[in-house]
Amino acid sequence: MSDFTIKILALDDEPFMLKLLVHMLADLGYTSVSTCVSGHAALNLIGSANDSPELILLDINMPEMDGLEFVRHLVARNYIGSIILVSGEDERMQQAAVKLARAHKISVLGHLHKPVTPEGLAELIGKWTAPSQNQPKADRKVYGADELRAAIANGELVNYYQPKVVTSTGRVMGVETLVRWWHPQDGIVFPDQFINVAETHGLIDDLTRVVLTAAFAQSKLWQESGLMLQVSVNLSMDNLASMDFVDFVVGLAASSGVQPQMMLLEVTESQLMEDLRTPLEILTRLRLKRFRLSIDDFGIGNSSLAQLRDIPFDELKIDKSFVHGACSNEKLWAMFDSCLNLAKQLGLEAVAEGVENQADWDFVRNRGCDIAQGYFIAKPMPAADLPAWIQSWQTTCSRYT
Ligand code: C2E
Ligand code: CA
Ligand code: CA
Repeated sequence: MSDFTIKILALDDEPFMLKLLVHMLADLGYTSVSTCVSGHAALNLIGSANDSPELILLDINMPEMDGLEFVRHLVARNYIGSIILVSGEDERMQQAAVKLARAHKISVLGHLHKPVTPEGLAELIGKWTAPSQNQPKADRKVYGADELRAAIANGELVNYYQPKVVTSTGRVMGVETLVRWWHPQDGIVFPDQFINVAETHGLIDDLTRVVLTAAFAQSKLWQESGLMLQVSVNLSMDNLASMDFVDFVVGLAASSGVQPQMMLLEVTESQLMEDLRTPLEILTRLRLKRFRLSIDDFGIGNSSLAQLRDIPFDELKIDKSFVHGACSNEKLWAMFDSCLNLAKQLGLEAVAEGVENQADWDFVRNRGCDIAQGYFIAKPMPAADLPAWIQSWQTTCSRYT
C-alpha cells in the first residue's frame, strides 16, 4: 500500500517540468509535494523540522548544481530519505548515476526517463518505505580491535553456511562458510563490520583459524551423517603471508579426518600485495596437497586476469554484481557471459553468486552456468538448519529445474 502522506520534493531547473510532476503526483494521490528549481534552495529544506522531504525526485542535469553534486550534499547532511533520479540521459548514464548514489549509501528507488509517465512514477514511489527500513545499516557501529580479539577468544564467532546448487538438477553440492559474530549485546553482526578490523589489527590469522577449524569439524559431521558437501572457506590475502598457514590447514585436514578435495579455499585480492611470491607459493602448495582453490568476486576489484594466469584455481565465482538483474541488462549480460566463457575455456567450475530471484535463476541456468548461490536458493544459515533446508529444497526445486 502506498503512503499518500509521504513528503515529496521535486527538484528540476525547468519550472514546466515541475508543474507537470506536481500534477501527475496529485492525480496519483500525493499531495504533500514541494518544488525547487535549484539544488541550493532544496538543500535548505533538508533537515528542517517540518519540511524535510522523505523522497526527492531529482533531475540529474541542472545547470548550477547538477544532480550528482546534489547527492554529495545529501550525504554530507546525513539525508536518510530516498531519491528517484529523473533525466533525459540515456540508460547507461542513468544507471551509472544510480550506482554512484547508492555507493554513497543513499537509498535510490530507481530512475525515470523524461518524459515521465504516471505509471513509471507510481511504480517507483510504491517502493518507498520509511527510512528505518530503508537503511538498517545507517548508523552501523564500528567495532574496536580489543572487542574483536575478545570475541574470537570467547567463541563468539559462529559459522553460517550458504548452499550452492547444481543448476541443471538442483542438487546441493556444497556450502560457503560465512562467519557471523554473535555479539552478546548487539545480536548478529555481519562480516563487513569486522573483517576489515581483523585485517588491519593483525587478528585475521586467528579469525581464519577459528573459522577453518569449525568448518573442517562441521564437514566431518556432515560426512558422517551421509551428506557429501564441498565446504568453502573465505581466506584473506593476509592469511597468505607465512608458510605456517599451509602446515595449519594440512594439519587440520589430518586431525579432523576430512579429505582436502572436500574443502575449497576462496580468495580475492582485497588489498594490493607488495610481494606476490609468498601468497602464490602458499596457494600452489595447498593445491598440491589437493585442497581446491576458488577465485572469488571475479570481475570486480582486484580479482584479475593476472591472478587467473598465475594461480591454479579450480572454481571461478562470478561476482553478484554481474548476476542479479543480468537477464534484463545488456551490459551485465555481456559481462556475465565473458566471465562464464573464460571459466569454461580454462576448465574451471563456474559459480554464479547473487541469484536473488527466479529471473536470475532462469538466466543463469539458460546461459549454462553449472552452479548457483544466492538468496533465491537460500540465505546463509546455521549448520543445524541445513539438513531440514535440504529436505524442503528437494521437494521444491523440481519446480525450477
Ligand atoms: P563473499 O565471499 O562474496 O560472500 C557472499 C556474500 O554475499 C555474503 O555476505 C552473502 O550473505 C551474500 N549473499 C549471498 N547471496 C546473496 C544474494 O542473493 N544477494 C546478495 N545481494 N547477497 C548475497 P556476508 O555473509 O555478509 O559476507 C560478506 C563478505 O565478508 C564475504 O563476501 C567475504 O568476503 C567476507 N567474509 C565472510 N566470512 C568470512 C571469513 O570467514 N573470512 C574472511 N576473510 N572473509 C569473510
Ligand atoms: Ca566468498
Ligand atoms: Ca563473492
